[in-house]
Amino acid sequence: MKKHFHIKVNGIVQGVGFRPFIYRLALENNIKGYVLNDTEGVTIEAEGEEEALEKFIKAIKKKSPPLAIVQEIKIEERKINHFKNFWIEKSKATDKKTTFIPPDTNICKDCLREFFDPKNRRYHYPFIVCTYCGPRFSIVKDIPYDRDNTAMAEFSMCPFCQKEYEDPLDRRFHTQPTACPVCGPHLFLYKNDKTLISEDIEEIVKKVYKYLKAGHIIAIKGVGGYHLACDATNEEAVLKLRERKRRPFKPFALMTGFIEKIEEFLNVSPKEREILLSKERPIVILKEKKSQVSKYVAPDLTYIGIMLPYTPFQYLLFSLDKDLILVMTSGNLSDEPICFRDEEAFERLGHIADYFVTYNREIVAHSDDSVIFVINEKSFFIRRSKGFVPTPILVKKNFQFIFLLLEEILKTPLLLPRIM
Ligand SMILES: [Zn+2]
Ligand SMILES: [Zn+2]
Repeated sequence: MKKHFHIKVNGIVQGVGFRPFIYRLALENNIKGYVLNDTEGVTIEAEGEEEALEKFIKAIKKKSPPLAIVQEIKIEERKINHFKNFWIEKSKATDKKTTFIPPDTNICKDCLREFFDPKNRRYHYPFIVCTYCGPRFSIVKDIPYDRDNTAMAEFSMCPFCQKEYEDPLDRRFHTQPTACPVCGPHLFLYKNDKTLISEDIEEIVKKVYKYLKAGHIIAIKGVGGYHLACDATNEEAVLKLRERKRRPFKPFALMTGFIEKIEEFLNVSPKEREILLSKERPIVILKEKKSQVSKYVAPDLTYIGIMLPYTPFQYLLFSLDKDLILVMTSGNLSDEPICFRDEEAFERLGHIADYFVTYNREIVAHSDDSVIFVINEKSFFIRRSKGFVPTPILVKKNFQFIFLLLEEILKTPLLLPRIM
């Protein structure tokens, strides 16, 4: 018998390819109706045979996209509407704003393959992204999660991107931040006096590598803010960064291109390896095995914080030299918040960095790299930020105040989902 269900799904269901997933699922099960994003999550009107509807709902729970977290599904039966097909309806704002924005994630395997494929039209394009990867939290201004509510609003899609965006079988079907070299944001290389050096990605990456090897300090705009980078094996460069940043002792985080390189000079347990390679890409604190970097990276310490690349530009930079180890510390003066606005960056970091790699897209919500420490193969957060915020840690309401209190004491966005 035919039925009509009104289905509401809550959790992290926007910005993770949930509507395309529902669309495909509806076609598979011969369900008619529509799906839409609203400020509470995703709403589905589904009409079909009772058995098909059951299968459809089960699959929503079981087969949801990798970055999605389904927290709750509410189902109500409604009067038959005789929908003729299934479509993605325009997003709607409701009175309640309770949906969650997904965190920023590492570039995925498929995008990485395209990024390094000279035949692909996004070859070496640093803003390559798909439904399953890339920036989210850092570019979202409001919910529902639509391009107009993100920092991508000012870039209109070219016909090629538009075609992918509208094709249900494409990996970029309804990928809000999708872009390409023709229509999306671009990188720029500046001297610290704001003189433009280059807008060409091939030239930028080669010059940045050359500057780093020559001992210069570079401010690089990343996902949640600016990093200050220098060659970690160059004693003079690391010392210069310490002096300019007015940070005499606090250890600097490192980045290197490959897990094998990390294993060369730091001890890595299976759990630590798994976390280093995870899509959240946090800094992991590891014990030094062999001295390969300047002693000024972590003065008097035998532990070093290190992470693997997560933005396309970082991958490109490290692809030039498999032995490259960089200091990648957050772009700020000691004890100031991370710098994430371009105007501010030149003012605040101009006397620290010799060069700036920046891009013409706004960072809406800033974040630092997360930091994790592993004891007995159990992981502990030292800082819970990029890659994890704003994913909520679900706790009973009564306990929430304890976490709020902790967050206040630690002065770090520990657990709070961005409920708007
Ligand atoms: Zn991807
Ligand atoms: Zn395009």
